[in-house]
Amino acid sequence: MSAKIIDGTAMAKRLRAAYTARAEALAAQGHRPGLTVVIAGDNPASRVYVRNKIKACTEAGFDSRDTEFPEDVSTATLLAEVERLNNDSKVHGILVQLPLPPQVDAEAVTAAIAPHKDVDGFHAINLGGLFGLAGDFVPCTPAGAMEMLRQEGIPIEGRHAVVIGRSNIVGKPMALLLLQAGATVTICHSKTVDLPAMTRQADILVAAVGKADFVTADMVKPGACVIDVGINRPESGPKAGKLTGDVDFAAVSQVAGWITPVPGGVGPMTIAMLLANTIKATEIALQKAAKT
Ligand code: NAD
Repeated sequence: MSAKIIDGTAMAKRLRAAYTARAEALAAQGHRPGLTVVIAGDNPASRVYVRNKIKACTEAGFDSRDTEFPEDVSTATLLAEVERLNNDSKVHGILVQLPLPPQVDAEAVTAAIAPHKDVDGFHAINLGGLFGLAGDFVPCTPAGAMEMLRQEGIPIEGRHAVVIGRSNIVGKPMALLLLQAGATVTICHSKTVDLPAMTRQADILVAAVGKADFVTADMVKPGACVIDVGINRPESGPKAGKLTGDVDFAAVSQVAGWITPVPGGVGPMTIAMLLANTIKATEIALQKAAKT
C-alpha cells in the first residue's frame, strides 16, 4: 500500500486565504487583527518559528510584531511586558515563544497573558476548553492536526487513536481533542511498556515525541492514518541537518493509509491555526467593546 499524503501546505494556504479575507473585513471596520510575539534569548529554532509566524500574519494583513529580550531577561521584565500588551487595545493576540530562558518562571509569564488574548491557548482557562469548560482558544498544533483529519474526512468517532507524547502543548491537548471527537484514546509516553503493541492498534496514530524517525513501519497498523507532529534536525547520519519528523516517512508510507509529511504537514497548519485564533481574538475584542 502507498499512503495518501495529507498536504498541510496546500490546506494551510486555502485557510490562510480565507483568514486574509476576514482580516481585511475587520480592518475595513477599523479593527486590524494585531498579534505580538514575545521572544527571549537566542534559541535559533525559536527565532525561525517566530519569523515564520510574523511573516504569515503580515501576509494575511495583520499588524504583527515581535518584542525581543536578551537571554538574561528576568521574570519581572517579561511580566511587565505581558501586562503592557494586555492593556494595549491594538494587540488582540499575545504569544510568548517557548522555551523561555531557564531563570524565567515560564508558567507565571504564560499565566499572566489575558485569557482572551492567549492565542497559543496555553492559559489554564483556555486549557479548560479541552474539558468542555470555559475557554476560547485551542493550542495551535493539535488544532491544526485535528483540522487535517477533518478536512481529509478521516473517520474519528469510534476509532482507536493512539497519541505518543504527553506534553501540555501537543500530546495531552491532542488526546483530549480526539476524545471530544468521539475516538477511543490511548496516550503513550516514555514510560509506556511495549509501545509497538499499543501503536499497532491505532486507526489514528499521532507522533509527538521529538525523535527523528522514531515510528517505524512495524509499529503501524496497515491502513492507519499517521500524523507526524515531530520537528527534528538530526546532528548525524544520512538526514544530518535536515528537517525530519518523528515518523520514518519512506517506510511508514508503504503501510499507512494516510500520512502527513515533514516538512509540509502539521507545521504549516499550526501557523494557520495561529491566524485563526488571532482573528477570533479580534472578534472577541470587538464583542467586548460593543457591550461597554
Ligand atoms: P516534549 O519533549 O515536551 O514531549 C515529548 C513526549 O514524548 C514526552 O511526553 C515523552 O514522554 C514522549 N517520549 C519521549 N521518548 C519516548 C519514548 N521512547 N517512547 C514513548 N514516548 C516517548 O515535546 P513536545 O513539545 O510535545 O514536542 C514533540 C515534537 O513535536 C517535537 O519534535 C517538537 O519539535 C514538535 N512540535 C511541532 C510543532 C509543529 O508545529 N509541528 C509544534 C510543537 C512541537
